[in-house]
Amino acid sequence: MIDVLNILIQLQEIDSQIINLKQKTESLPLKIKKLDQLAEEIDKQFENERKKLSTLEKQKKDKERDIDEINDKIKKLKEKTSQIKTNKEYQALLKEIESFEEALKKEEENLLLIMYELDETKRNLEDSKKNADLKKKELELEKIQVEEEIKRVNQSIDTLIDERRGFIDKLPKEIYDEYKELMKKHKGIAVSEVKNSVCQGCFLHIPPQLYVEIKLNQSIYHCPQCGRILFYKKEENKEEKAVSE
Ligand SMILES: [Zn+2]
Repeated sequence: MIDVLNILIQLQEIDSQIINLKQKTESLPLKIKKLDQLAEEIDKQFENERKKLSTLEKQKKDKERDIDEINDKIKKLKEKTSQIKTNKEYQALLKEIESFEEALKKEEENLLLIMYELDETKRNLEDSKKNADLKKKELELEKIQVEEEIKRVNQSIDTLIDERRGFIDKLPKEIYDEYKELMKKHKGIAVSEVKNSVCQGCFLHIPPQLYVEIKLNQSIYHCPQCGRILFYKKEENKEEKAVSE
């Protein structure tokens, strides 16, 4: 194979790798963004449960205050009994005390219910805190891995760009210019293999005479349809023969 064609093939390989890696560097930050969003959702969910707890704590305090107030009223009414003159007044006072005591009983039952729910919510909150911490830790680890991957990919790109320079230096300027034009025109594939008489870039069936010449890899040929630089892989020559025999 002539040197120029060999260099073009290797340059294409490097550029294809660079293109793939660059696509990766574009998709990986999106992955990180998604991981951050998941962590935020976990926080939000936990925050909702925490809000429920503080609502219940407030309800408990309110209820306790209500109960204190009723107890105060009962206490004051009981103190009044010593000042009472008539039986009728006494009966009326007892009735009033009784109704407050009934209200007190109801409020105490309500308080118990709130305390029961509060205990349950506290327990759930502890569990979900553990879960949330665990999940967030997992997400954090995953994020670190993605960040490391981004670093690795960028390093690989730098290495390839260095390698690429070495090949470009060896290419005649007009051929490199042509390569660049083809890269632009064909979205990253300027040099294409011909396999079983078919251009792998545009799938044109190469005319037999041209195919024979391309197979020699002794000159630069272009696909009659897409214009890409064509080459032929020797190893497959044998395979092809074996198949046809
Ligand atoms: Zn073609």
